[in-house]
Amino acid sequence: MPSKVTFDLQATDGKARTGVISTPRGEIRTPAFMPVGTAATVKAMMPESVRSTGADILLGNTYHLMLRPTAERIDRLGGLHKFMNWERPILTDSGGFQVMSLAGLRKMTEHGVTFKSHVDGSKHELTPERSMEIQKLLGSDIVMCFDECPALPASDAEVAESMRMSMRWAARSRDAFGDRPGHALFGIQQGGVTHDLRAESAEKLREIEFDGYAVGGLAVGEGQEAMFNVLDYAPDMLPTDKPRYLMGVGKPDDIVGAVARGIDMMDCVLPSRSGRTGQVYTRQGVVNIKNARHIDDPRPLDENCACPACRNYSRAYLSHVFRSNEMISGMLLTWHNLQYFQDIMAGMREAIAAGTFAAWQSDFHSGRAQGDIDPL
Ligand SMILES: [Zn+2]
Repeated sequence: MPSKVTFDLQATDGKARTGVISTPRGEIRTPAFMPVGTAATVKAMMPESVRSTGADILLGNTYHLMLRPTAERIDRLGGLHKFMNWERPILTDSGGFQVMSLAGLRKMTEHGVTFKSHVDGSKHELTPERSMEIQKLLGSDIVMCFDECPALPASDAEVAESMRMSMRWAARSRDAFGDRPGHALFGIQQGGVTHDLRAESAEKLREIEFDGYAVGGLAVGEGQEAMFNVLDYAPDMLPTDKPRYLMGVGKPDDIVGAVARGIDMMDCVLPSRSGRTGQVYTRQGVVNIKNARHIDDPRPLDENCACPACRNYSRAYLSHVFRSNEMISGMLLTWHNLQYFQDIMAGMREAIAAGTFAAWQSDFHSGRAQGDIDPL
């Protein structure tokens, strides 16, 4: 195993890329989808089950973990990998995005952000330096810069001012991170939906130099078309020899469209959150297990899926346990969704390597356009 984090770009097809990020804790095949383990667990899943779907890396949330059980406690207990029984790579976000979306009484200055915990009302501060310290205590393999993402819509002047502060915070994050062999620090491009601001942000990040680069400030409610418009140019502004990460994306067709535009890594709560609310993603589109049509249906959710929900249970059973609020409902549907997302990633990796990504995309879209199998 290497003592540092490296990226080997193995093949491209159009703008789509496939490769391997090597870390001391294992390899991450790209394009990679990272299931979200918000509070040191991917909800309703055992870590070994998450791994069995093909996940190489998980995402942990700095904001949640710093509040409960605290980064210091996780450090005393041997770090996040040991604590949650996931020995493979973990990426942690910086905490900034969730402070903005969840915390109360926020106050932001050039120095950082103070806020009140949504858990118990206690007062906390996050700065670039504190975010680096927390992510180090957690033992994260891929650390994200502390940044600010303005809520859209915002004026160009507001987006520019926020982006420039994020770039100053990126430089402070880099200094505070220091030299940590075996761990990577990713910078985050900002600039909203404005080409010139994205270019200015990318140039600043390239000057500072990071081990990977995220496209930030998207998937915040701007819609797929606006997001794809930015992704048509923003990834090209980042170095080709480093991984590119699109934060918080997304639905299956968002993921495929992002990979087609040169993105290598993504994360989203969607497969696990939808699994708990009875919404299932399949090769033939979205299935809602709540619908009455499934009550007597002995067929599997998706006959082409190898997950336990599809292999061992009928739609009728899945419908029953959902309606009965049984825990196994969330477990099985989450498992299926995570399996489907990882199957998409594996399919894309294979197609990009073979130079057949355009045909793969066309099959993907026509399958999903078919809609669910006819009711019995
Ligand atoms: Zn399945």
